[in-house]
Amino acid sequence: MKVVMKFGGTSVGNAERIAQVAEIVRAEVSKGNQVVVVLSAMSGVTNTLLGALKDAANGNMGKLLQTRDELLKKHLDVINALVKNQTAREQLTSTTTSALDRFEDLCSSIYVLGEITPRATDSVGSLGERLIVPIAAQAFNDAGIKAEWVPASELIVTDDNFVSASPLMQETREQTRAKLLPLLEKGNVAVTTGFIGATKKGIITTLGRGGSDYTATIIGAALDADEVQIWTDVNGVMTTDPRIVPEAITLPEISYGEAAELSYFGAKVIHPKTILPVAEKNTPIRILNSFEPSHPGTLIVREPKGNGSPIRGITAIRNVSLVTIEGRGMQGVVGMAARVFSAVARNNISVLMFSQSSSEQNICLVIESSGAPQAVSELEREFKNEMLTQNVERVWAHDNIVIIAVVGSAIKTTPGIAARVFTALAEKNINVIAIAQGSSEYNLSLVVDESEADNAVRAIHHSIVKNK
Ligand code: ADP
Ligand code: ASP
Ligand code: MG
Repeated sequence: MKVVMKFGGTSVGNAERIAQVAEIVRAEVSKGNQVVVVLSAMSGVTNTLLGALKDAANGNMGKLLQTRDELLKKHLDVINALVKNQTAREQLTSTTTSALDRFEDLCSSIYVLGEITPRATDSVGSLGERLIVPIAAQAFNDAGIKAEWVPASELIVTDDNFVSASPLMQETREQTRAKLLPLLEKGNVAVTTGFIGATKKGIITTLGRGGSDYTATIIGAALDADEVQIWTDVNGVMTTDPRIVPEAITLPEISYGEAAELSYFGAKVIHPKTILPVAEKNTPIRILNSFEPSHPGTLIVREPKGNGSPIRGITAIRNVSLVTIEGRGMQGVVGMAARVFSAVARNNISVLMFSQSSSEQNICLVIESSGAPQAVSELEREFKNEMLTQNVERVWAHDNIVIIAVVGSAIKTTPGIAARVFTALAEKNINVIAIAQGSSEYNLSLVVDESEADNAVRAIHHSIVKNK
């Protein structure tokens, strides 16, 4: 069997965790499987790198040296704890130090320029993965697991949509097979960087935050792997985020569609694009816990064994704003909604949720907060004439809101679920700001104030999962 194993940031968070990863990989190799390992940056590293870049662009270099030293220490600690081979240790210490010197130089240039390009963001943002992979590969060798590393910039070919690049699957398939198959056939474990690709010209891109999961399935598809394993810090995909609701339970099996829906609506445990490369090939994905390797976790397949419940989970999308267009003169006017959508689409703003009151006196959109000011001014421009005649009275954004989605097959057609959701919220005095039909049959979405979001998730979970 060919297996791709991806380990997230907390799973490679320090030397002890990486030693544990080596044991998990060893167990897979000893089953006689060919293994590709995809690693994320050590936990917190990508945030630190991107934070330093942003500070530099804003003219703040005060912490740069300290950041560079902290990152260096974090990685040298792993080298010193796990790399026993003297030559390898010296070499890794030197390459890690010079990579972080280059990071410091790049931040200094951004400071001078006062502006960050998406290309520079990817060059810096990808560094965490590029630092840890050679170290971990050497640690595997020192632990007696024959391993070779290849940067994913030599495997995954992407478009040049920096910061959120998409793979070009045909080119990626060719390169990945050419680079990895000989290595696997030699009996080595192949280790590569998550999150990263490169354009046809070889310039580093990233697949979007949390994108290492996507890397694993892109490589899995390219190699026609038999299974993709996503090793994280919780027991699989659960009924909701266990950090918010400790009694959340593991979903033993879910479908590709359900996994996509849960992640799209905020279940951070897998990146929303993760299932795309493998769903068509019917490659199983397992979500497993590196802190509890014997737990069976979640299996994502085309036809999961049902558990008799239409509910799969409760998710939350944060950092979103509700933009409302309101006016009594909007009633009965044909094409209002279409104009609203075109106006926001012109600015490349995607609409996460949409609702229109039955009296047609207002239209609400939920979008990412970063795009809200732009959306409001674009809509004011679009409806300038209607605003002059007061047919449209105002356009405004309500920030600090959260979309909560109850996800599951046929949820909307199952009687009683919506009633239970709204009763649970009413009992806790939680105000529902808006309700919408989700983008599919599979969810019921509503909007609450950010300050009430965690309580809302707990109340809904308690009512419809725990007491089902
Ligand atoms: P990794 O670093 O391994 O990629 P992430 O932090 O990206 O891990 O994703 C795992 C986290 O996702 C968990 O620690 C958990 O808090 C969060 N999470 C949110 N929703 C869910 C859910 N429905 N099931 C499991 N975990 C979830
Ligand atoms: N290190 C990247 C991030 O923090 C990718 C990942 O962890 O999946 O977004
Ligand atoms: Mg992740």
